[in-house]
Amino acid sequence: MQHHETVPLVAVQRGSGPWLYDHDGKRYLDAISSWWVNLFGHANPRINTALKNQLDTLEHAMLAGFTHEPVVSLSEKLSALTDGVLGHCFYASDGASAVEIALKMSFHSWRNQGLGGKQEFVCLKGGYHGETVGALAVTDVPIFRDAYDTLLKPVHTLMSPDARQAMPGESADQVALRAAAELETLLKERAAHISAVIIEPLVQCAGGMAMHSPVFVQEVRRLCTAFNVHLIADEIAVGCGRTGHFFACQHAAVWPDFLCLSKGISGGYLPLSLVMTRDDVYASFYSDSMARGFLHSHSYTGNPLACRAALATLEIFEQDNVITQNRVLADRLSSALAPLAVHEKVKHFRQQGMIWAFDAQVQDPQLAATFSRRFFASALKHELLLRPIGTTVYLMPPYILTDADTQFLAQRLQTVFDEVMSA
Ligand SMILES: *Cc1c(COP(=O)(O)O)cnc(C)c1O
Repeated sequence: MQHHETVPLVAVQRGSGPWLYDHDGKRYLDAISSWWVNLFGHANPRINTALKNQLDTLEHAMLAGFTHEPVVSLSEKLSALTDGVLGHCFYASDGASAVEIALKMSFHSWRNQGLGGKQEFVCLKGGYHGETVGALAVTDVPIFRDAYDTLLKPVHTLMSPDARQAMPGESADQVALRAAAELETLLKERAAHISAVIIEPLVQCAGGMAMHSPVFVQEVRRLCTAFNVHLIADEIAVGCGRTGHFFACQHAAVWPDFLCLSKGISGGYLPLSLVMTRDDVYASFYSDSMARGFLHSHSYTGNPLACRAALATLEIFEQDNVITQNRVLADRLSSALAPLAVHEKVKHFRQQGMIWAFDAQVQDPQLAATFSRRFFASALKHELLLRPIGTTVYLMPPYILTDADTQFLAQRLQTVFDEVMSA
């Protein structure tokens, strides 16, 4: 709150398409989709209509002993998107809970199969999986983790496949293989004690938009299968078309054992998360004994309004051929950003699907420490909502930018960058 003595909070009054408007009528282009959740704009007419109808039909009912059409339809649609491989969905409300569910379900599934010794988790440097105590244990972002470190269960934190770490002459694929080799060494030694490996496929987002080769995802899949360890793909940020396929794992042509979705799945409307899993995991819990069941519940699990928003979102993907159209949009924005990509103070300009990022070359430690705050404030002045992660500037816009929006975004971003760098 003390920072807001100099940068006042923006009180948002309404939203429309990619724009947010404050109470003074000032507008801001939401270039980060309100923390990566909003896919098709604010107050989207199609999602609004679907929600209004759902509101008059069923607002909520408990999901124990009861079920309802929106949650069944959504599960079937998502399952079909994985060709039925991940044919079971377990619901919750936020991303961190989905991660908790995947971790608990992995452990409990092994336990039900007589492998209760598999109690350890493997995660990556710079990975982010949410901030509840279980999810924070597999998160490696110091600013979120450090204060609580003594509360967290110890985990194995391995090298990130971040392509920026390439040694001279090394390709992104080779960095991926180097990171995978570290995992192989660990699994050779400890697989009997390891329940699951959790990754953010293709882009470690909150850790600073660190991108890696799909070869890493393929290798992790291969190793997890070989060593009888689950693979958890946290697609909370990278799912829902963000990386160029609906699921990021599709770039590697593999499926995990657990896939976590949240953020964009409800189009940015309502809290909803879910964990998709396979038949064998489902079967390991299928029993008359309550103790063998997966007893994890949240009050608003599978909320019908949230599921309806998700169904309306999936319908837009289908009707508008969004995955294909996004390639056109991404090319257009990449072209508009070309001057910035070669800017002398820009390092590691990178893009994956509908994510763009670069690292600002800031020498002055004072400026580096306050860079994100200054950038945010300058962006607001120029009608943009942007929040760099440290000195990493990124764009994660909604999938509905017009040509004019694209030009506006690229030009204003350049202006803001020059303004902050010359401070
Ligand atoms: C945002 C995020 C989470 C946590 O989701 P919340 O809804 O904020 O709890 C988990 N994993 C990843 C990869 C995320 O980006």
